[in-house]
Amino acid sequence: MPPYHQLAHDIFQQLIEINTTDTPAGNVTTAAQAVAARLAKAGFSGDDLRVGGPLPNKYNVVARLHGSGKAKPVLFIGHLDVVQALKQDWSPNLDPFKFNEIDGYFYGRGTSDIKQGDAILVTNFIRLKQEGFVPDRDLILALTADEEGGESNGVQWLLKNHRDWINAEYCINTDAGDFETENGKRLLLGVETSEKNYIDFQLEVKSKGGHSSRPSKDNAIYHLADGLERLSKFEFPVELNETTRSFFAKTAHLQDAQTAADFRAVSAGQPDPAAVQRLSQSPYFNALLRTTCVATRLEGGHANNALPQTARAIVNCRMLPTDSADNVQKTLIGVLADPRIAVTVANNTGAAPPSAINPVVMRKLDELSAKLYGGIPVVPVMDAGASDGKYLRLGGIPTYGVPGVFEDVNDDRAHGRDERIGVKDFYNGVDFYYLFMKSLAGEPH
Ligand SMILES: [Zn+2]
Repeated sequence: MPPYHQLAHDIFQQLIEINTTDTPAGNVTTAAQAVAARLAKAGFSGDDLRVGGPLPNKYNVVARLHGSGKAKPVLFIGHLDVVQALKQDWSPNLDPFKFNEIDGYFYGRGTSDIKQGDAILVTNFIRLKQEGFVPDRDLILALTADEEGGESNGVQWLLKNHRDWINAEYCINTDAGDFETENGKRLLLGVETSEKNYIDFQLEVKSKGGHSSRPSKDNAIYHLADGLERLSKFEFPVELNETTRSFFAKTAHLQDAQTAADFRAVSAGQPDPAAVQRLSQSPYFNALLRTTCVATRLEGGHANNALPQTARAIVNCRMLPTDSADNVQKTLIGVLADPRIAVTVANNTGAAPPSAINPVVMRKLDELSAKLYGGIPVVPVMDAGASDGKYLRLGGIPTYGVPGVFEDVNDDRAHGRDERIGVKDFYNGVDFYYLFMKSLAGEPH
């Protein structure tokens, strides 16, 4: 095995076997310190290696590889925390916090979200340091806490308290975008340039209540249910942006004939309603075409034999990056069409703008795709979910999601049972990122 593959393997194993869930058993600081110890051993020191955070168990690690200063730095990120996993929910031969290699896959919590990315970045920062590589700009590594939840999001903390540690022309995020394969065939390099923005609304109806043996027509539960019924039939208008238009155009050829025609129709603008209707059948394509809002929680009433005094629902919306909380709230009020249903914002973490497609990053990826992957298309993508890229974009640092590791479109186990990643795909990712980082730092291919 090439030496840097062995190193990547060992870092990956070490990180998987440190529990970094947001639970009493988890500790992100242990992982941050393990990474820092490896970076220190490779020669990172002083101001070039920082470990810190707002809570003793939620530290982040930041390292800097100095360049010649020809351009502003590039920041590379991954998060150290993982979603909770219970051994009894996994196959009997697997423990989520043990690193297992079985039949060509690495198993463990975080193998695909996103400790593979962390291991790849750390390996290559160590390698570039050991090789004495001098980039034409600083390369910064930040591995952070609480991306998956928790109160101490590391990227937000760094932006607020130590912007100078991570300030950069742009950021490359391993935890976004899609390097897609299907049945072993590589399809595309999806570079995430934007994300849908998350917002929750609370719907609440109050009614007078009373004894359920003498019901009146005015019932909080019925008001709410009728409103939700109207919402269930509503679709937000289709709206494309630079990224989604390009995605539909560049990936049409990967689809069957009808879908390809529909992709081309929507990317050309003013698609016929039948094309939109067909594409909207797919939850994924639908999420790319429009803002979505869906009821996710429901509660109401206080006793089996009492008329309800309160009924509540949470509606979770994923806004297009060009949409706004105000517009969505107004739309919901219109669709619910009942002044008795009070619509308020329950949770809004801010709406991040899309990052303009960066032609240099895209060109470097095109060159690498030609060199390594037979020239499969490099395609800007918008994620329907959210990542830490959001906070960097809000903070004025354009962010591009480049996972580096190919995953099968039908085998996404992030946050789920028996999470895994292909062994070969992981090592290819290690090699890919080595070339990618050098190319962003001024080295021609
Ligand atoms: Zn993640």
